[in-house]
Amino acid sequence: MPNKGFKHSAETRAKMSKASKLMWQDLDYREIVIKTRVGSKRSNETKAKMSAWQKGKKKKPLTEEHKKNIGKALEGRVMYEEHKAKMSAASNGSNSSQWLSGISHSPYSPKFNKQLRVKIRERDNHTCQLCGVEKNVISKGEILMAVHHIDYDKTNCSEDNLITLCTSCNFKANGNREMWQQYFECKLLVA
Ligand SMILES: [Zn+2]
Repeated sequence: MPNKGFKHSAETRAKMSKASKLMWQDLDYREIVIKTRVGSKRSNETKAKMSAWQKGKKKKPLTEEHKKNIGKALEGRVMYEEHKAKMSAASNGSNSSQWLSGISHSPYSPKFNKQLRVKIRERDNHTCQLCGVEKNVISKGEILMAVHHIDYDKTNCSEDNLITLCTSCNFKANGNREMWQQYFECKLLVA
């Protein structure tokens, strides 16, 4: 357990770090610091400039342009986070190796037999419940409609967890899982 003193100093350090990062965003300040670091002969002058800069900053609020730039930077970061979340969601879908290996490593329940699949297809009129096609055509040949597990649990074979989809829609439904699960659950409630 860290004592109070330790906590305080960590907080202070965080504040100082945050403040210095903000200051670093100011190009004038950055220029001055770089000049100081390379050991300019006019170090006294530089120090005076820094001191003047800091005094000036206290009085001068951020310019609109500067505020906009900071806003843009923050927005960029939010978008980046959203993008990361989307990428991670996508990687849980059909293109991920996890999903591909999922076929071989998590076998369907024995309850998910031909008889049950026929029953579900009949209930759904042999029609894809997403796009409405009645014939599931794959490279010129007609194949049976897929019976999709709405909650993605291959062992949950209750009829309200199963829905008829064409191959294309079944593939689609393996990405963005949370959204599709909600969609199909609602669809069956309405039906
Ligand atoms: Zn379809």
